Amino acid sequence: MSAKFQCPYCGVGCGLLMGGGRVRGDKDHPANFGDVCKKPLYYPKVMNKGRLLKPMYREDKKEPFVEIDWGTAYEILRQKLTELEREGLYFYVSGQLMTEDIYVINKFVKGFLGINNIDANSRLCMATPVVAYKLAFGSDGPPCTYEDVDDADAFVFAGSNAAWTHPVLFKRVLKRKNEGAKVVVIDPIRTETASKADLHIQLRAGTDVALFNSVLYILYREGWIDKQFIEQYVEGFEDAIAECINYPPEVASKICDVEVRDIYKLAELYAFSKKLISFWCQDLNQSSQGTYANLALINLHLATGRLNDKGCPFSLTGQPNAMGGREMGYLSNGLPGYRDVRNEEDRTFVESFWGLEKGTIKAQPGPTITEAIDLMLYGKIKFLWVVCTNPAITLPNLNKVKKALEKVFLVVQDAYWNEACSFANLLLPTAQMGEKEGVMTGSDRTLTLCQKFSEPLGFAKPDWQIFKGLAHHLGFEKYFLYENSKNVFEELKELTKGRLCDISSYSYDVLPKRWGRGWLYWDLKFPTDNGRAKMHPTPYKHRPAKFILITDRTKNQWHTMTRTGKSEELLKGEEEPFMLRAKRMLWRLEFQRMMWLRLVLIKERCS
Ligand code: SF4
Repeated sequence: MSAKFQCPYCGVGCGLLMGGGRVRGDKDHPANFGDVCKKPLYYPKVMNKGRLLKPMYREDKKEPFVEIDWGTAYEILRQKLTELEREGLYFYVSGQLMTEDIYVINKFVKGFLGINNIDANSRLCMATPVVAYKLAFGSDGPPCTYEDVDDADAFVFAGSNAAWTHPVLFKRVLKRKNEGAKVVVIDPIRTETASKADLHIQLRAGTDVALFNSVLYILYREGWIDKQFIEQYVEGFEDAIAECINYPPEVASKICDVEVRDIYKLAELYAFSKKLISFWCQDLNQSSQGTYANLALINLHLATGRLNDKGCPFSLTGQPNAMGGREMGYLSNGLPGYRDVRNEEDRTFVESFWGLEKGTIKAQPGPTITEAIDLMLYGKIKFLWVVCTNPAITLPNLNKVKKALEKVFLVVQDAYWNEACSFANLLLPTAQMGEKEGVMTGSDRTLTLCQKFSEPLGFAKPDWQIFKGLAHHLGFEKYFLYENSKNVFEELKELTKGRLCDISSYSYDVLPKRWGRGWLYWDLKFPTDNGRAKMHPTPYKHRPAKFILITDRTKNQWHTMTRTGKSEELLKGEEEPFMLRAKRMLWRLEFQRMMWLRLVLIKERCS
């Protein structure tokens, strides 16, 4: 069977073709025009390795699992959901689900269980850019598109090794570099991306906020800001400047351990380029100062009027459908169509759309996943249902997380056996990319229809069907009358009508297609309370540390390696975890520590 689908790995959202047992790039897809990196090429080889095939159950976690049928699984779930208090239930979902899956799960939890106890693994990577985008622009839709790369003459990569993590997009940037565009990389590590740059600012890890504040300081002092743009479209400029004057380049140079002249070069790039795109990723996001780091970078664009034809800030998403999840409001505060549970109008609209009584959806956001882990340890949350993600190795403070996973009644719904399964009571097998149909949204807002090219393995089902089945078992059948994923899409798209992410006129037949105009804020009217974009003061907080350990990604692996780690070809040369020295640390001490850590990492990997 041949089919078109979106790559199940990074957020570039490349279009792929499956035919004759081989994967290749889709020449007609606007995200990649046929280009593709190595990872998805081995997808057919790995997709069936280590799969969950049947529902399995054990009441006692010390006992082995026994196979059960779906009817028994639904009955076990019914009993748990009805015997426990609603606030004692929690759901943890994923940016790797399709939009239809996310929508049905969110509807079931927020609408029909009447709780907001749901969060997504986007909390780990995209929570800070989402907050920063919303604070700056009023929505978290990326302002530009990949097409903007093709006529930009300057690129900044901040905390992003895009050459490895978003390779197809990076190749598009390199094409521009070969035509004369400038590339600056801000990263404590000499990455492959940095090795291709015109300028690598190898700052001390965790000091990005100070660096960006200093660039704003120079832009302001040198009069390189766009006053007219600020007067017409921006507020908060004075407050942001009041903070940035604490970071003259001589001061920032010491904080960041970089040359003053490099800070100036960066400021000149923001001041004088024709069109500049700032890409960033997890080095900025996954930090206790992540929101400030995002805002400080966005400030540079607002101060220089660098939006639309002059450039844009562009956060790179790590998962294939984190964007679709955000459109469907899958975090603990969201509702479909970029709505929020805290907004009464939003709640009322969604309640009426779902046929629920007014007041059913709670106004209070649920706990985030990290807060929920604490509540599990306190015994307040007793039931956790994990869908398509692996909290047993991805959440911070794993010792604590594992204790929490041991304590709760744990449901793991996944295509593969992963580390979380060993803590589970109930395992639910799901269909994998290619075994189900649905939509995903890539980093630049392009929706792609993922077609089916094989039948689900064993007794696996698409995630939305599992929740539909349970909803029927609980007596909600008239609200979940979907025959196929297209029915789900036709329903969910109505909830976007008139919203920023309006896809109400789309159908499966017209995809791939991007929502919003090319430039999301083409008219420079922002969905904020007064229509203006907002700059924010971004104080830098020094965190003294002898060693700073930061994580990175290897070239051919993706996330927790559930699939890519099963390919010998992709593992070649990257079999073991390794550490790189960032800069200016005590080598000998670091070496000893490095060996120790290396052993620990290898041990973790083997056990
Ligand atoms: Fe997949 Fe990302 Fe590679 Fe494109 S760049 S093929 S989306 S992993």
